[in-house]
Amino acid sequence: MAYDSNNIFAKILRGEAPAFKVFEDEFSLAFMDVMPQIDGHTLVIPKDDAETILDVDPQILGKTAQTVQTVGAAVQAAFASPGFMVAQLNGSAAGQTVSHLHFHIMPRYEGLEFKMHAREMADFALLETHAQRIRTELS
Ligand code: AMP
Repeated sequence: MAYDSNNIFAKILRGEAPAFKVFEDEFSLAFMDVMPQIDGHTLVIPKDDAETILDVDPQILGKTAQTVQTVGAAVQAAFASPGFMVAQLNGSAAGQTVSHLHFHIMPRYEGLEFKMHAREMADFALLETHAQRIRTELS
């Protein structure tokens, strides 16, 4: 299926929609999920017109994976989580709701479950403090 350049992450990449950005380079962008399933829930996206992992340029995918690794470490440190999860959904049948490839980074703690997927909008002031904690770890 053709890439839909009107999706919200494409708009964020073009600077047409706001985002709580924590990291950006030539190949990828990382920002806070506005409906986090847990504090620190961060998204990493490639700078490529790709809906799923099957569509992305492999070199950009490799660079984006490096960003997932770098930002994952920063999220884990910023939220003092003993573990973190990386999740990536391909297609609506898999639960994908935004049609631009993205990786979820979510801190994990023993016995602490996630909130529902993409349901509750976060307080933006709180989200900015979370973004700043991650930026501090990356700096
Ligand atoms: P998925 O279901 O894997 O496609 O996940 C899409 C994610 O994007 C969900 O976790 C949403 O909460 C998140 N999301 C949707 N719109 C925005 C936005 N404008 N900025 C940041 N995150 C968003």
